[in-house]
Amino acid sequence: MPACIVCEDTITQPLCAVCMEQSIAAWLQEKLPPEEALAQLRDETVAIHDERGLTTCIRCNQHMAVCSYCYLDHIKRWLTQAFPEFVPEFTMFFGFDMHVEPELPMRGLIAGVV
Ligand SMILES: [Zn+2]
Ligand SMILES: [Zn+2]
Repeated sequence: MPACIVCEDTITQPLCAVCMEQSIAAWLQEKLPPEEALAQLRDETVAIHDERGLTTCIRCNQHMAVCSYCYLDHIKRWLTQAFPEFVPEFTMFFGFDMHVEPELPMRGLIAGVV
């Protein structure tokens, strides 16, 4: 099984950065001016978008290399620095105890993008 290049865990429910970004962006656009939200989010995650591994996204079939846990962890770190007031809601909305209950956040993400 392909593994995440960041945490080296097996990627069991691959959802790529592009697909996850749609959920995050929809949420962030309620808080920031839409263009600004998208630009900042894209700036933060461009390196993750560029990673191409052996795993393919279950939604769009793009090759990807970073698991959703690591992607969301990255977003959370960024928010903690840039918009700490958004962190509690982000944690609640995207279910951040993912390594504990891996099913829950994926359901939330998939529900958010489909
Ligand atoms: Zn990972
Ligand atoms: Zn995708």
